[in-house]
Amino acid sequence: MIETDLAPIRESVRALCANFPGTYWRKLDRERTYPEEFVAALTKAGFLAALIPEEYGGSGLTMRAAAAIMEEIQASGCNGAACHAQMYTMGTILRHGSAEQKARYLPAIARGELRLQAFGVTEPTSGTDTLSLRTTALRDGDSYVVNGQKIWTSRAEHSDLMLLLARTTPREQAKSRTAGLSVFLIDMRAFKGKGLTIRPIRTMMNHATTEVFLENVRIPADSLIGTEGDGFRYILSGMNAERILIAAECIGDAKWFIDKAAAYARERVVFGRPIGQNQGVQFPIARAYINMRAAELMVQEAAALYEAAKECGAEANMAKHLAAEASWAAADMCLQTHGGFGFAEEFDIERKFRETRLYTVAPISTNLVLSYIAEHVLGLPRSY
Ligand SMILES: Cc1cc2nc3c(=O)[nH]c(=O)nc-3n(C[C@H](O)[C@H](O)[C@H](O)COP(=O)(O)OP(=O)(O)OC[C@H]3O[C@@H](n4cnc5c(N)ncnc54)[C@H](O)[C@@H]3O)c2cc1C
Repeated sequence: MIETDLAPIRESVRALCANFPGTYWRKLDRERTYPEEFVAALTKAGFLAALIPEEYGGSGLTMRAAAAIMEEIQASGCNGAACHAQMYTMGTILRHGSAEQKARYLPAIARGELRLQAFGVTEPTSGTDTLSLRTTALRDGDSYVVNGQKIWTSRAEHSDLMLLLARTTPREQAKSRTAGLSVFLIDMRAFKGKGLTIRPIRTMMNHATTEVFLENVRIPADSLIGTEGDGFRYILSGMNAERILIAAECIGDAKWFIDKAAAYARERVVFGRPIGQNQGVQFPIARAYINMRAAELMVQEAAALYEAAKECGAEANMAKHLAAEASWAAADMCLQTHGGFGFAEEFDIERKFRETRLYTVAPISTNLVLSYIAEHVLGLPRSY
């Protein structure tokens, strides 16, 4: 598919990103600080409100357009991990939130007055086994009382709202294996320091990730999204959006690594000729390009299915898998192509190398994607 209609969006994102060069990201990376100015610029330009419908003040764009925005951010050498949650949590609110919730939150998010950047699913003891999560939200009059702990809740310190998955019915009393979990949209501002504690986790890249402790946090009952007990289903469909958008980010990363490697291979002269004249150098770059293009097609297919509200679990998972593998292979190739200079901070390669490594683990690890395809597409027995 030729995305001619997305060309102007791509160009505007590129133009915005040009104001945030490698020097900007390197400084933040060294200090492990959040890219406030970059996120503010994206918000002001309306890019973070891409998936908010126009009637709520957003840009009302499609999933393919949102994916193009994230891809261009990465392909420009920037890091969209600072803000991608605002896009991928949107599907859950749009598809399952009430009219009142949409009217209350979406216009303020679109205006940049409210930040929805935190998505609290993973817990220390449950890991990938989401159904065994232990955080509870128990109804008490007009409130739910939340207790538990989340881990890897990225950007919680830089977000006002958090989309939270918690158990509302004990597992043994739930009507099915997947029932009994609920999704809440929590306004954290009222609870930070009052039962809700956020502790940053320092990681190998600058990701602003945290652990969140919830102790007797009494949230209004109208924080519940959709029907109590149906949260796992809502989160699964939201996760498809997350996978597609992160896959698009990986495509952007792969493009950045491939461009860097090809440029360097054309210019760097060793033994009296450009290193790119050696097939041992050019073939890995060509292979990375082929893998990136194949993954890109799957990302587009998954995004188109999502947009059409069709089942896209397999395609979203395959897109994330192919794109994450393609970006990681391109990162390794780019480092190798640059020889020793690839390790120097000022080339940005080692930074992007660390950043893109995340995506074969999060938001879902490779093994779990393979299990999904084995079970749901190939009809093999469930392995866990
Ligand atoms: C930087 C960062 C940011 C993140 N941001 C967020 C966020 O904002 N919100 C959020 O909710 N979560 C977030 N996560 C969590 C992320 O989604 C999980 O780390 C990821 O899903 C893997 O879960 P886990 O770390 O618990 O690994 P585990 O589930 O403990 O798995 C460990 C390893 O074992 C493998 N494994 C486990 N079970 C099986 C099996 N049955 N078959 C084969 N292999 C298996 C996995 O593939 C993995 O390689 C983030 C994580 C990181 C590192």
